[in-house]
Amino acid sequence: MWNEAVYQQKSGDRPTFSKLGKLLTEARARTSWLRAGSQVAQQQTLRTYAQALDHSFKVKGRGRPAFKARKKVLPSLEYTVRGFSIREGRLLLPKGVSIPVIWSRDLPSEPTSVRVTRDSLGYWYASFVVRREVEAIPAVEGVGVDWGVSVTATTTDTRFDLPFLGYRKRCAAELAKAQRCMARRRSGQRGPQSRGYKRAAHEAAKLHKKAARQNSRVWAKRVVAEHGLIAVEDFKPKFLAKATLARKAADAAIGAAKRVLVECGVRAGRRVVLVQPAFTSMTCSECFARTKRLDLDERTFRCSECGFTACRDRNAARVLLVVAERGHSSVEGVRQAGHLLRVGGSVAV
Ligand SMILES: [Zn+2]
Repeated sequence: MWNEAVYQQKSGDRPTFSKLGKLLTEARARTSWLRAGSQVAQQQTLRTYAQALDHSFKVKGRGRPAFKARKKVLPSLEYTVRGFSIREGRLLLPKGVSIPVIWSRDLPSEPTSVRVTRDSLGYWYASFVVRREVEAIPAVEGVGVDWGVSVTATTTDTRFDLPFLGYRKRCAAELAKAQRCMARRRSGQRGPQSRGYKRAAHEAAKLHKKAARQNSRVWAKRVVAEHGLIAVEDFKPKFLAKATLARKAADAAIGAAKRVLVECGVRAGRRVVLVQPAFTSMTCSECFARTKRLDLDERTFRCSECGFTACRDRNAARVLLVVAERGHSSVEGVRQAGHLLRVGGSVAV
C-alpha cells in the first residue's frame, strides 16, 4: 500500500487520501490477494501515508515519504474503530483473526484504534489509542538518581533505590552459551556472515532483552508520582568488548530503567534533567568541594573540607539533585556559575 502510494506521488499529481482510496477500491475489485486482506488496515496505511505527505509539504526541508524495503521494514498494521473489537480478553481483527492478548494493564477507556507491530525478535505487540484523564498530582520534592552496577539506581531517598536483580542463573547460562556460539561462527568481518552466526546473534539479543525487561516501569511510576523534579545521571552504556557478562547485564538494566524513568517523568509533566556524570562522585553534596578521585572499591565518600560523610552513590545522587535544582546540567556548570552551596536536611547513608 505504502509503496504504491509513493509510486503514485512520484509519477503524477500529489495523491490525496480520497484519490488513493478510490484506487484501492478499484484494485481490490480486480485483485484477489488484495481482497483477502483487511480493507480497514489497507485504508489506514494510505491515510498514514497521506498525512506523512501533507506533513512533508508543510515542514521546510523535509523529504517526501520514501519507499520501504520489505526486507528491512518490520510489519505494522493499524486498525480503526470499525476494524477491530475486544471480546473476552481477545483481540478480534477482520477476516476472522482472533488473538489471545497478554494485557500489560487495563484499558482506561474504549480504544479508538489499535496498531499491531512485530519487533526485531519476532514478538508481536498491540498498542491501543485510548482517552484518559490526566490527574495532576502536586509534587514539590526533587529526587536525584545515580546509576550503578550492584544497585541499579541509588536515589537521594533510600525508599526509591532500585536494587539490581540480575539475571536469573538460568538466563545467564543461556546467554553465555549463545555468546560462545556466536564466537565460534563467522561474524562477517572477513567474508560473508554465516547463517549460524545470525541465528546465534538473534538468540543472544533475545536473551539480553528478556533480562533487561525487569520491572523498572513499576519503580519509575513510583518515583515520578512523588517528585516534581527528577535529576537523572546521563549514563551512557558502553558495552565494551572486554566488559564482563555481569557488567553488560547491569548496563542493560540501567539503560532500560533510565529510558522508562525519563519517558514516565516527561509524560507526567515533571521536570526531568539529565545531568552529566563527570565529577558527580568526587564532589561533596554538602559544600560542593571537589575531593580526590575515589577508588572503585571505596564505597564511602568523605569530604576533606567540611567532613561530610555519606555512602558514595548516595552522595552522587545528592550532587545530581543539587545541580538540577540550580538549573544546570553539569557539576562544572554549577562551579562556574559560582553558586554558594548549602543543602539542608538529613542524609541517608
Ligand atoms: Zn564538603
